[in-house]
Formats: sequence, structure tokens, C-alpha cells
Amino acid sequence: MTEAVPTFADLTTMRVGGPAPHLVTATTEEELVALASHAYATGEPVLLLGGGSNTIVSDDGFDGAVIRIATSGIQRVASDGRPDAVRLRVQAGESWDGLVAYAVRNRWAGIEALSGIPGSVGAAPVQNIGAYGQELSSVLVAVDFVDAATGTVRRLTAPDLELGYRTSVLKRGLDGVVVAVELELSQRPDVGAALGEPIAYAQLAHALAVEVGTRVSLGEMRRTVLSLRASKGMVLDDDDPDSVSAGSFFTNPIVSQHFARTLPADAPRWTLAPEEPDLVASLDGESAEESAAVGLLAEAAVDREFRRRRAESEGVKLSAAWLIEHSGISRGFGLPGSRAAISSKHTLAITNRGGASAAEIAQLASFVQSRVQAEFGVVLRPEPVLVGVEL
Ligand SMILES: Cc1cc2nc3c(=O)[nH]c(=O)nc-3n(C[C@H](O)[C@H](O)[C@H](O)COP(=O)(O)OP(=O)(O)OC[C@H]3O[C@@H](n4cnc5c(N)ncnc54)[C@H](O)[C@@H]3O)c2cc1C
Repeated sequence: MTEAVPTFADLTTMRVGGPAPHLVTATTEEELVALASHAYATGEPVLLLGGGSNTIVSDDGFDGAVIRIATSGIQRVASDGRPDAVRLRVQAGESWDGLVAYAVRNRWAGIEALSGIPGSVGAAPVQNIGAYGQELSSVLVAVDFVDAATGTVRRLTAPDLELGYRTSVLKRGLDGVVVAVELELSQRPDVGAALGEPIAYAQLAHALAVEVGTRVSLGEMRRTVLSLRASKGMVLDDDDPDSVSAGSFFTNPIVSQHFARTLPADAPRWTLAPEEPDLVASLDGESAEESAAVGLLAEAAVDREFRRRRAESEGVKLSAAWLIEHSGISRGFGLPGSRAAISSKHTLAITNRGGASAAEIAQLASFVQSRVQAEFGVVLRPEPVLVGVEL
């Protein structure tokens, strides 16, 4: 009897996508490095897969090597930092939520608000996962990485990864495999309540009936986040058809202050901290006094320029969910005859209502994009990684 060819419909949480005829699974770090180095050396296309919760592959499938990462192991390593620091080296194939649960049990703070995010630890830096006021970037130290260009392992520190809102150099195209992730949490004392990081998200604070900035116990934080997420279909649950998705389908768009002023006054918006512009005043060839005088002038000019560029660069984050709802698309919406639909609990999630094709998912996503663009002039960007799928 011949074995059935695996499909991406079986390998991803959206449950769509065609065959993966060249699927291999790595269960140890050595195996993962060897498989990846070999695949990169052959020059064939390579697709990495952890939990498949942020990947949508076309109905044609993927004809290159698919490496499924199923490695495991959490190791405590020496930290050169604070006395309460707990530094962990975690294998890429570990479950992210399993790691959060383990940290909470051990009274280690720093990732409790990231409870319930599906998928693997190795994929977490790819889009710098975030939720309820926490982001991976606040605890990530470094990753060990098989560089596709050389086939060898190198260490990339958190600054090397250029982590931003749902992005990193890995998501923007640096090709290679995260083999292990090093992160640093904070040990809470053995006695008394093990408190989490201060709550930085209004909805979470509201659910806990406390003010933003308050600390509650790690366990309480985890339970509340899980229940909030479940109410939105944002934890994987076989009994919840709204969780057959890739989570949020669109990122919250970031626009200029100027553009944001053209939107309706009630459109939610958050002003983002600006990037510090790099400004260098060249003082080449000046005498000491000239340098000092020019230095003062240059400082004032730099200051003026800095303020000008800062005002210009202040981005404004909008709510993709609000834009979708106010473009006339409500929860549960589907195109006629399609098996893809907006989640009945959350406008930002596109769900597979049973047997949908990748094409149907893409069709609905494109429809949402075009409605929002027509109504507000904003182009929504997909959050999941699309493989062979065009919007
Ligand atoms: C119900 C639901 C809720 C979600 N909620 C959130 C949320 O609150 N916040 C959030 O940020 N995300 C959320 N997501 C998205 C998703 O869970 C995260 O992006 C997660 O990190 C993806 O992990 P994965 O292992 O499933 O990645 P996959 O889908 O397997 O892979 C995602 C991408 O990373 C690449 N990749 C995977 N492993 C590696 C590796 N080891 N090295 C290099 N590249 C790799 C893949 O090639 C692909 O490009 C949600 C998804 C779902 C289904």
C-alpha cells in the first residue's frame, strides 16, 4: 500500500493547501541543522513549518523541501545579567504556549500575556509575536540560526533580528532556520504571589477589574488572557469552528499623522513612538575653537532637525478590525457559495468553515482589502505568511 501524500490542509491551522510531497520532520537539533544545511546546499526551494498557525499555502501545494520542526527541549543557561534573571535556551519545535505554561508554573515572569498563542517557539521571532501588551522582543536575547546563504549555524542577537510590530528580518526575507531561541525571564520569589509584569493593555486590565499598570499573579494573568482569547476564537479548540484560522488575518495598519487626520474622528488610533533619526554632523578639518563653535551650532541644528524628522516620522496605528467593520463587513460574513467566512467572534479573523480551499480564503481576504481600501483608502496587509497565494 502506498502512503498518502501529506497536504498543507493537514499541516496548518487554516486547514487549506495542497500536497507537500517532500515533507521531512526534524526531531532533534542535529537533525534539523543537517536537513536544513543539506536542503539549502541543493538550491531547491525550502519551506519551514512549525505549528502551521501562521502559514497559508496554495491549493497547488509546495513542490520543494518542507521541513517540519518538531524538536524539543528547554534548557536553563547562565545569564550575565540581573540576579533574578532566568535565561532559557529553547528548541525551535517546542510549543510556544507549553513554554508559557512552564514559565508560569516556575514563577518566571515576562511572557504570561502571550498565553494561548498557537505555534512553535522557533516561529515566535519571525513575526515578533505579541498580544495583550507584551511582545517577544521584551524577553528575546538571541537565536541560533542556520543561515541559508552558508548552511552554517550562527547566533543572531535580538537587535540583529530588527524586531518590530509583527515583523523581523526573518519575515522580511532573511532566509534560514531558527534552531533554538534564547530568552530571559524574571524569577519571582518563592513566597507570596508570583506577580506578572505590569498590565499594559486596557482590555486585559478591565477583565481583571484593575487599572493599567497593576500587577496581578502570573496564574491569574494567564487564566484571564486564555479566557479573553477563547471568547474571540483565538485559542485553538477543536470544538470552536472560529478557531480554524490563522489568527488575525491583517495587521493593524500604520499610517502618517497627516493621513490619520483624514479618517473619521471615531476611528481608533494610537500614536507610535518615533524612530530616533540618525544624524551625524561632520566636523572634519576644523580647529579646536572652530570645532567647539561649529559643534554648538551643529548641536542646535541637529536638535531642530531631530524634532522636525520626529514630527514627520510619528506613525499612527489604526485598528484593522474597526476599519473592516466600518467598511460594511460584519462578523460571520461570507461571499455567496464560499466556505470561507469572517469569524463569528472577531472581524479580524478569516475562518475555514469546513472544506474551504486556499483560493476561497484568498478571495474573501481580497474582498475585505478592497472594501477597506474603497471606504478609507487604507491597504490592509496580511499577517500570515502566504505561499503561492496572491491577494
Ligand atoms: C487562533 C490563532 C491565534 C493567534 N494569535 C496570535 C497572537 O495573538 N499574536 C501573534 O503574534 N500571533 C498570533 N497567531 C499567529 C501564530 O500563532 C504565530 O505567528 C506563531 O508564532 C506561528 O507559529 P507556527 O509555528 O505555527 O508558525 P508556522 O505557521 O509554522 O510558520 C510561520 C512562518 O515562520 C516560518 N518558520 C517557522 N518555524 C521557523 C523556524 N524555526 N525558523 C525560521 N522560520 C520559521 C515559516 O516558514 C513561516 O514563514 C495566531 C494564530 C492562530 C491560529
